[in-house]
Amino acid sequence: MNQDLEKLIELEKIDREVTRLTDEVAALPKRVAAIEAKLAEHKAAVEKAKAQIKANETGRRQLEADIKGFQEKIVKYRSQSSSVKTNDEYRALMHEVEFSEKQISGCEDKILELMISLENDEKSLKRAEAELKTESADVEKEKGEARVRTAEDENLLAGLREKRTELRTGVNDSALAHYDRVMRQRKSAIAEARDQKCMACFVMIRPQTWQEIRTNDQIVTCSSCGRILYFDPAHEAPPEPPKKKAKGRASEAETETEQETTPTA
Ligand SMILES: [Zn+2]
Repeated sequence: MNQDLEKLIELEKIDREVTRLTDEVAALPKRVAAIEAKLAEHKAAVEKAKAQIKANETGRRQLEADIKGFQEKIVKYRSQSSSVKTNDEYRALMHEVEFSEKQISGCEDKILELMISLENDEKSLKRAEAELKTESADVEKEKGEARVRTAEDENLLAGLREKRTELRTGVNDSALAHYDRVMRQRKSAIAEARDQKCMACFVMIRPQTWQEIRTNDQIVTCSSCGRILYFDPAHEAPPEPPKKKAKGRASEAETETEQETTPTA
């Protein structure tokens, strides 16, 4: 095989791998950022549960203060009742006492509700804290893995770049310039030629060019996409079976199948 062609085929493999690794290195911080965003969600859930518990406690203290206020009022009304002069005044005071007692009862109901919801809030907090703990451990693990992978990739990239430079210095300038141009435009610069077609753009190759490519002795480019073409004898199509006969047999088989599947009823 032509030395330049051989090197360019190798160079393209390296260039593809360099692109893959570079993309991977670029994607890793994004993955870590996504995990960290998820972690922030869990942190927010913990904060929310804590805030709910706090609001619950504040509400309960307020209700307890309200109860105390109503109890004081009741004491006051009762002491006033001993000095009232008319039945109406007495009834009015007793009405106030009754009202305050109802208020106290209402507050006590609300306190009970708060106590029940506090139990749920505490459960939510425990769950959120447990999830946060697991998630934090996962984040550290993922970050560690990302760091290791990045270092490995960087290492591979350094080796590949070295190999790349070495290969490039050994290739004919104009062939290399053509390779670079096509690579830039099409993200691939080499294509296999098979069955007299460019396997990248699938355009037919003229018979004379096809004969040239089959020798792999020179740099031949696809007239349609510009890629440098090579021939792999291992992929050469086996001699085609006589077409007409094969087709006849196929249609016979089809007819047979059709007859078999036709309902007999
Ligand atoms: Zn092509």
